Amino acid sequence: MIRKLCILLVEDEEAIRTGLIDVLVFHGYDVDSAATGPDGLKKALTGKFDLILLDIMLPGMDGYEICNRIRAEDRNQPIIMLTAKTSDDEIVKGLKLGADDYVPKPFSIQELVLRIEAVLRRSQAGQEMARSLHVGGLDIDTENLSARKDGEEIAFTKREIGVLSYLAQNSDRAVSREELLSKVWGYARNLDIETRTVDIHIAKLRRKIETDNKTPEWLVTVRGAGYRLIVER
Ligand code: CA
Repeated sequence: MIRKLCILLVEDEEAIRTGLIDVLVFHGYDVDSAATGPDGLKKALTGKFDLILLDIMLPGMDGYEICNRIRAEDRNQPIIMLTAKTSDDEIVKGLKLGADDYVPKPFSIQELVLRIEAVLRRSQAGQEMARSLHVGGLDIDTENLSARKDGEEIAFTKREIGVLSYLAQNSDRAVSREELLSKVWGYARNLDIETRTVDIHIAKLRRKIETDNKTPEWLVTVRGAGYRLIVER
């Protein structure tokens, strides 16, 4: 069964919020919502969403701040800003902070749905592009979950490929165990016990991709920050 795409809607005006939820559900999406800035940020950082629809003027914390905080944790999260502010400055500010698109209010439902579909298409195309991963001299086929090394086949689990893919997409920085749990496993953040799960997967991956898993060259530990994948250019 195909998983329904899940959208987080952060919007304080109740009439707009309930109206949009109805429309999005009608179009086949799962929807979670928040009515305040802090609640929206919390859900954005603890849940796993295919897209976040983010109003700008919100009680407690504005949409710019939320966008900024989400981007600090995850630069791949698709975000569309809903903005009543239509001046170019405001739009540019949102896009600079990393929103994928903006939809000025008042918007037509049709236009909003088209923008949502476009952003989701782009982000899914990005995910599909990585059909093979080049790590540590290995060419890993992410569909067959395998690679060949010295004529031998090395099998990976889907989760291991998920971890490698996420690290490869973010290879310019270290990724924390909590972020991996949230983005690859879909768990809520800050479950201390669960971070061991990540370490176990990293150890298994090192045995597969490293020449010497005691001194990793590719899947390295960045002290106090997490794990980073070194990708060949
Ligand atoms: Ca508002």
